[in-house]
Amino acid sequence: MLPLLSRLCRRSSRCLIRVGSPVWLFTLVGPTDHQLFAQRPPAMTSFRHSKTIKALPTLDWIGIYEQLPPYSQWWKETAACAGIPLPDSRPDSVEFFYVNAVDFAPTPTDKPNRMVAAVTYASREQVFVSILRARDEKSIKHEMMHQILYWWGEEDWDDDARLEFKRCKLEILS
Ligand SMILES: [Zn+2]
Repeated sequence: MLPLLSRLCRRSSRCLIRVGSPVWLFTLVGPTDHQLFAQRPPAMTSFRHSKTIKALPTLDWIGIYEQLPPYSQWWKETAACAGIPLPDSRPDSVEFFYVNAVDFAPTPTDKPNRMVAAVTYASREQVFVSILRARDEKSIKHEMMHQILYWWGEEDWDDDARLEFKRCKLEILS
């Protein structure tokens, strides 16, 4: 268990918890978040991040957003590149959340302490992405590819080394 150095709560339900410099933990609990995530509960229950301030000061630390206009085309292009038929209505059911940080370590995860700019919980059809990447075609298509591979029944849908990422130029360079 990480030591709690300080706890800053804005309203009772939204807490920014410092767990040891310079990493911060944001936990999603409480009635406010319930309203925020009105459709389905979020698969990511908390995240750590390395900056003490938000990437965009006027936005919440996390929030759900409507799929942006180019996304429908990006779904089609990503599926076409993978050679996988896109299930007609499924992309509409995928929920996108922004995280107001450059990168973050999500919880739960099978890759502890790995900082990411985006993560897909494919069985829950939820994508969490840094607010700075929400309009970034490559980043969003990368996550869409994970979701499409999952729908197609690939067991290793989460594997960035799969050939589809290379073939479609969606490799994560970090
Ligand atoms: Zn990936």
